[in-house]
Amino acid sequence: GFLPASRISSIGVSEILKIGARASAMKREGKPVIILGAGEPDFDTPDHVKRSAWEAIQRGETKYTALDGTPELKMAIREKFQRENGLIYETDEITVATGAKQILFNAMMATINPGDEVIIPTPYWTSYSDIVQICAGKPVLIACDAAAGFRLSAAQLEAAITPKTRWLLLNSPSNPSGAAYSAADYRPLLDVLLKHPHVWLLVDDMYEHIVYDDFRFVTPAALEPRLKERTLTVNGVSKAYAMTGWRIGYAGGPRELIKAMAVVQSQATSCPASVSQAASVAALTGPQDFLKERTASFRRRRDLVVSRLNAIDGLDCRVPEGAFYTFSGCAGLLGKVTPSGRKIETDTDFCTYLLEDAHVAVVPGSAFGLSPFFRISYATSEAELQEALARIAAACARLS
Ligand code: PLP
Repeated sequence: GFLPASRISSIGVSEILKIGARASAMKREGKPVIILGAGEPDFDTPDHVKRSAWEAIQRGETKYTALDGTPELKMAIREKFQRENGLIYETDEITVATGAKQILFNAMMATINPGDEVIIPTPYWTSYSDIVQICAGKPVLIACDAAAGFRLSAAQLEAAITPKTRWLLLNSPSNPSGAAYSAADYRPLLDVLLKHPHVWLLVDDMYEHIVYDDFRFVTPAALEPRLKERTLTVNGVSKAYAMTGWRIGYAGGPRELIKAMAVVQSQATSCPASVSQAASVAALTGPQDFLKERTASFRRRRDLVVSRLNAIDGLDCRVPEGAFYTFSGCAGLLGKVTPSGRKIETDTDFCTYLLEDAHVAVVPGSAFGLSPFFRISYATSEAELQEALARIAAACARLS
């Protein structure tokens, strides 16, 4: 029979995919399922970006490119880092891959020896721990509860660092919690890192442009130049420019790390897609004003979802600073019984109930390493959100 390699034997298909498959199957059966699980903006890729891709095809830019990014795209990324983050990266300190996910994979594959530890605050984007495990590393998960704003504290970080620690992974704004680190939130963590020169920092800034109210986005390598030589600043076009299917992510970091990551990439994908790279140049160098409008639209939806959730007895939703997710506590509903007599013991039970009874698909906190919570992605129309929240409220009211 088939036996998987040990590096993947402990990794299951993610809860997100399982719920998604169930929801899609129910939809095919004709049930009116609303899926609030998608990790992508509901906007379209901007027209000028699409046009630039077509032009690249007509110019014949349909062949292999330079291994880790065309010179044009690296220049555009260099300018982006300087303009938006106050960070100077030379083009040989920049790498481009097939999505930020491959950036993370390249980085872990290039640096982790068996048993090396990677500190990951929870709730986390599921891929972090799975990628670390595929690379034979050991994820060190640290629970960061709602009361702490889903943020890691300096004391927690200090206590988690061992001689085997290779990386700290931070994601701000976060998928799934929407929580973000301000300069003041980052400072104590960066001070801890300064004391431990063997620990490297990977920051995932994918949701940088989706922040609300007066929140000021900052990135650690700009905040603390002394850490820049061991920080990998990860970003991409997927979320900011509604380009998830184009598969382009990038990072800035120390030259030696960037070179090692290119070695991994050279034997995995050879290079990112040529047409997508041309489109990403247009995204990064073209007009940026639509980002504000899109964020304003997300903000209205965030406010709607948060207020409707908090009006439901037993649910508790912290107001997220960014991204397009809410991560609500459902502790107040555990122990209750559904109309069909099933007891809700976990967040997974609760999400199963919502799917089956209210036909709303959301993802349990267990999928992100922190329970009892559930994630809603509000990157869908206001009408659909209104309907989904009404159904969730009614389903919660039916519990006894
Ligand atoms: N980082 C975070 C926190 C994400 O939520 C995602 C996508 O869901 C990614 C990275 C990956 O983005 P991509 O591979 O599309 O660039």
